[in-house]
Amino acid sequence: MSAASAMTINDGRLSAVKWIASPNYNKRPKNTTIDTIVIHNISLPPNEFGACGADGIHYVEALFTNQLDWEAHPYFKTIEGAEVSAHLFIERDGTVTQFVNFKDRAWHAGRSSYLGRPECNDYSIGIELEGSDFVSFTTAQYDALAQVIAALYNAYPKTRRHLTGHSEIAPGRKTDPGNYFEWGKLREMVANELKD
Ligand SMILES: [Zn+2]
Repeated sequence: MSAASAMTINDGRLSAVKWIASPNYNKRPKNTTIDTIVIHNISLPPNEFGACGADGIHYVEALFTNQLDWEAHPYFKTIEGAEVSAHLFIERDGTVTQFVNFKDRAWHAGRSSYLGRPECNDYSIGIELEGSDFVSFTTAQYDALAQVIAALYNAYPKTRRHLTGHSEIAPGRKTDPGNYFEWGKLREMVANELKD
């Protein structure tokens, strides 16, 4: 990706991506420095990608906007009433959607702790990749994610030292983004983005 097409962040919003507001957020605690990026995977139903409800809305978008029909799939009953979000969702084709302004606190990490600090939602940015623990992520997703992370590193420089996964901040409870996620490849791609 050349510098000309690099993503930028203005007032907590990523340029040139879809914006769909989630109601599932609140303010970060006063004087919080955003210093951590948390990578996740999600698929609804589990291990199905791109699935939509009868309303044509992607199930993950529906979940993040409290529109998911809990009756539409047996799995959905197990998460009925969940009020969750992430700042960003990256689909299998690399489409990026922002649901929560980076200045606000998205509800992605749940009970969590990073470097001895609890409540990761307070100080982190959450990125959900459409995927599962059992398959590789797509090239389009790595491309989009690398551009997004380069933009985040520039906007929130302290995050450069704290790129982590949900499984690292909620061990024993969460396993995503899973063993198929290639951290080395991602770091190399982000470094290339930053070189431009
Ligand atoms: Zn997660």
